[in-house]
Amino acid sequence: MSQRPIYLDCHSTTPVDERVLNAMLPYFTQHFGNPSSISHIYGWEAEAAVKKARETIAVAINATPEEIIFTSGATEANNLAIKGVAEAYFSQGQHIITVQTEHSAVIDPCNYLKTLGFEITFLPVQKDGIINLKELEKAFRDDTILVSVMAANNEIGVLQPLAEIGAMCRERDIIFHSDSAQAIGKIPLDVQAMNIDLMSLTAHKVYGAKGIGALYVRRRNPRVKLASQQHGGGQERNIRSGTLYTPQIVGFGKAVEISLETQATENEFLAQLRQSLWEQISQLKGIHLNGHLNKRLAGNLNISVEGVDGSALLLGLQPIMAVSSGSACSSISTAPSHVLTALGHSEKLAYASVRFGIGRFNTVEEINQVAEHFVSTVESLRKQAVMV
Ligand SMILES: *Cc1c(COP(=O)(O)O)cnc(C)c1O
Repeated sequence: MSQRPIYLDCHSTTPVDERVLNAMLPYFTQHFGNPSSISHIYGWEAEAAVKKARETIAVAINATPEEIIFTSGATEANNLAIKGVAEAYFSQGQHIITVQTEHSAVIDPCNYLKTLGFEITFLPVQKDGIINLKELEKAFRDDTILVSVMAANNEIGVLQPLAEIGAMCRERDIIFHSDSAQAIGKIPLDVQAMNIDLMSLTAHKVYGAKGIGALYVRRRNPRVKLASQQHGGGQERNIRSGTLYTPQIVGFGKAVEISLETQATENEFLAQLRQSLWEQISQLKGIHLNGHLNKRLAGNLNISVEGVDGSALLLGLQPIMAVSSGSACSSISTAPSHVLTALGHSEKLAYASVRFGIGRFNTVEEINQVAEHFVSTVESLRKQAVMV
């Protein structure tokens, strides 16, 4: 059997950590109760486990447990936040500010709201991928009800200045939402210090299972109103109905717990691997780093390569490494990444780009192997291009 390629696509998903899996397993077969069942021990056990996970996640972002609403992931959390605010506050205004480089799970709900009559401002980013706060300042209007800016970008890993944005929103009494799917467990998040009112989270980017996430909804100073987008049994304070997925929630809590404990050392380790990868790859000519050099996730490296065809490059890399191309989250689509074009890249350069997502389980040896193969692939593609 041939060896499987080295996994370097941790922004798209991560493997479930064994410790997370072990925490989850008893909740499938043994403690399988419905956390909403209040009349027997099966329900109480499940409820206790959910409560513990809720507390862990709340502590991780400096919120209270009642402010955590479990969802099926960050896509649902973003939809709930954006549409839920739009519906609850539309009589106060119909203008929303977000950013060109957001995940499609923010951009698409905003575009949907446009069809209902809302106005959306998509802020540009600077060459380093970070928004200009002066542009935000200019974008505020009297009828702005919501600002949505992600914590860490899923393609180029850059970190937006959440505390500054939060302060500007609070000054104007505008609700601030942050898609923090890539940030939870990886960088410090504090909804109080950062004045964040709504925060979308997901488990599967931080070694938890797929299909579970949460929306933080501020209850105090101010209390954020949210129109439910899913009606039914009244779970999650009537904001998000549906039987809670106990095993996934338990795993989410465990994943966050582990990440908080290991964050500092893990970031150091990831930054070392990334630095080594970058040093080896950038010995090639015509390699561009996408996004700010330091204000980014430790495990992220996103580069554009001159003089090679994007799909040929990916094809050449495939046997050795699992990475994403410029059109990251929708690899089926051939359009260049909206994130890279927002940085001001030409379409061609945006095509020939590679996103490396280094994670907890990668090793120094793997990074060396990847770097070596990357360099030789680019060199041979360039040689072929000259011969044609
Ligand atoms: C992965 C991701 C999402 C989608 O999260 P799911 O839990 O898969 O729905 C949303 N936003 C960002 C920034 C992401 O990286």
